[in-house]
Amino acid sequence: MMIKFLGEYRDGRVVYYIDDDLPVFGYIAFGVIDRGTNVLQVRPTTICPQNCIFCSVDAGLKSEHRWAEYIVKPDLLIRGVEEAIEEKGCSVELLIDTIGDALTYPYLTELISRLKKISGVRAVALETHGLLLSRKLIDKLNEAGLDRINLSLETLNPEKAKYLYGNTAYDVKKVVDSAEYAVKETHIDLHVTPLWLPGVNDDDLVNVINWALKIGAGKRWPPVTVQKFIKHKYGRGKSLKEVSWREFWGFIDKLEVKLGVRLRWSMEEWGMHYAKRIHPVLRRGDFIEVEALARGWLRGEYLGKYANKALVTLLPRPGLKISPGSTYLVRVLDTKDNLYIARVEKQ
Ligand code: SF4
Repeated sequence: MMIKFLGEYRDGRVVYYIDDDLPVFGYIAFGVIDRGTNVLQVRPTTICPQNCIFCSVDAGLKSEHRWAEYIVKPDLLIRGVEEAIEEKGCSVELLIDTIGDALTYPYLTELISRLKKISGVRAVALETHGLLLSRKLIDKLNEAGLDRINLSLETLNPEKAKYLYGNTAYDVKKVVDSAEYAVKETHIDLHVTPLWLPGVNDDDLVNVINWALKIGAGKRWPPVTVQKFIKHKYGRGKSLKEVSWREFWGFIDKLEVKLGVRLRWSMEEWGMHYAKRIHPVLRRGDFIEVEALARGWLRGEYLGKYANKALVTLLPRPGLKISPGSTYLVRVLDTKDNLYIARVEKQ
């Protein structure tokens, strides 16, 4: 079956179900990604219930650039992690980090408990902005064996949160309560990762950091990391201020002194190290045949499959019509981290 059309989402976006007879490596929007360390990214969905004003991947309720979303069968991700561990030859930590929000994934607890049973998986963490968090869900995630939640929280102010996250249903009190519950009543650790939006949440950051430390975030891993806002080609927040890395680190230095806390952590403190990469399937410049399968996540792009070995992002030449099911000659443009991007030359 490979890919099943599930229906229309919003703004003409379609939702696809990805079966386990597809390759699992090669695509940025879903699957498993290896960036040459002992941490593998596991991406089961692209759906998001928020509409953050700063979203770097244009996800959520109102997207300008997306024309497809994906939900992946757990079996495909399990297979990908098993293959990666075997090829890398080391134990790994798994980070369920999506270009949406992991909590929307309908098979999340099944996925976590199956990932945890794989030999060589040291820990499973997930990233979220929290709208769907609740005590009930925390209990289920705890039971499934989740080790850590990376919670991106930019403010504790209820009205500001609704504005920043683009959804009036966002209840920051419930998110805070759920996070505290996870820290105090379960095995799950909490790592809080607020994004600094210069001029927008400078003071809120202080409150978020103090809150995270007060409730005991960082039981096994560092408690807080502040993230830098970066503008992306297809992201939102074009009118927000982006500072240089120098300014960013200067701000972090001042925060550390002002609050008497540490906000910088080494790879060792994270239990991270460089590790053998999975073998590349394609090289830059390769001229190959790829089958177009469906829409890609960004408008105008397509998802392709190279000989049951890798997924490929297809960028059509202007004027060339792509028909899913057909095979095309493509030139590989980029292979960084075994994420393959190719230009379609002809049918
Ligand atoms: S930043 Fe995260 S939670 Fe917010 S819209 Fe983007 S993907 Fe969704």
